[in-house]
Amino acid sequence: MKQNRRHFLKMSAMAAASLTAPSLFSACTPSRKKQLKATMNLSWKPYNLQLNHTFTISGFSRKTTPIVLVKIEYDGLEGYGEASLPPYLGETQDSVIEFLKKVDLSAFTPSREMEEVIAYLDGIVEGNTAAKAAVDIALHDLVGKIEETPWYKIYGLDKYKVPDTTFTIGIDTDDVVREKTREALGRFNILKVKVGGPDDKRMIEAIRSETDLPLAVDANQGWKDRRQALDMIFWMKERGVVMVEQPMPKEDLDSIARLTEESPLPIFADESIQRLSDVERLKGIFSGINIKLMKCTGMHEAWKMRELVQSLGMKVMIGCMTETSCAISAAAQLYSGMDFADLDGALLIGNDCFEGATLERGKIIASDLPGIGVKPIQELTFFSYRD
Ligand code: MG
Repeated sequence: MKQNRRHFLKMSAMAAASLTAPSLFSACTPSRKKQLKATMNLSWKPYNLQLNHTFTISGFSRKTTPIVLVKIEYDGLEGYGEASLPPYLGETQDSVIEFLKKVDLSAFTPSREMEEVIAYLDGIVEGNTAAKAAVDIALHDLVGKIEETPWYKIYGLDKYKVPDTTFTIGIDTDDVVREKTREALGRFNILKVKVGGPDDKRMIEAIRSETDLPLAVDANQGWKDRRQALDMIFWMKERGVVMVEQPMPKEDLDSIARLTEESPLPIFADESIQRLSDVERLKGIFSGINIKLMKCTGMHEAWKMRELVQSLGMKVMIGCMTETSCAISAAAQLYSGMDFADLDGALLIGNDCFEGATLERGKIIASDLPGIGVKPIQELTFFSYRD
């Protein structure tokens, strides 16, 4: 990974230094003059994702997920991004649009060196991480399209060297759990089971009546007692569970640290982690970190997080919300070399409005289109504050 990072820095430095390479940084060319005149125009579209199944995790159920799609137009090109807004994270379509109305990109020129524009976005207001991620993803898409290159190549990654994606099975009746398991067979190589409900063992047994595929489990903070959690983890390991996500309440770090120490399976942080600044304090508490674009403000920070997590000797996975192929394809650009992946978000919805990364033999593989590798598959009308 360090090699990849060095490669990336080297590529960026070469691009910045070169006057002959066809790059964004080339000085005094006609296209450069033209680009200086162009400005980035931001617009958005609220959209509601229809989930194929009612989704239950420890705490609540739902059938839809609101999102806001973002488009940045620049010099005849369009970059797309997305904010996914599951209700428990606190952002809404209104709060995202409120944020987007404050964003003025006219002072910036798109380039792969994004420190300034990302710092500007982050400084507009606190929080609003999904709204910031939407703009970040659209910027990445735009820059990749200007460079006519997909981001996995800019990162120096092999798009095929990725972990299998899990397919998520929510807390449900035995019949539904078995039906969802059968639905996954032949398409996925690992399943993710939502536990932390009243009868976790029954859920695992129901799946085991259909398949021997390895299982990841996500308790979503649902286990409250460390000893019971540890007993459950030992029981699950005997039944082919390979990793555990967020076993206990996010603030109970002392209990989680002891659980991680005693657990025969790796323990990943999800609810306990939000952004880059949270990573270091979780070393020694969790075995690994789940990175989600919607929580960490997008690809720019996600890349820094994976670098830091791996440099600390921790495991790393990529996760998602229910999202269209837009945000999933953005995540697919940067997860090569990670330990686990949970990128089934676009496969759980019935009204995806983009095509991009696809499921191939149990893995989510980025397309070869430039940028984040997506195109809309239906007419989408975007709005801006000028409309
Ligand atoms: Mg989780």
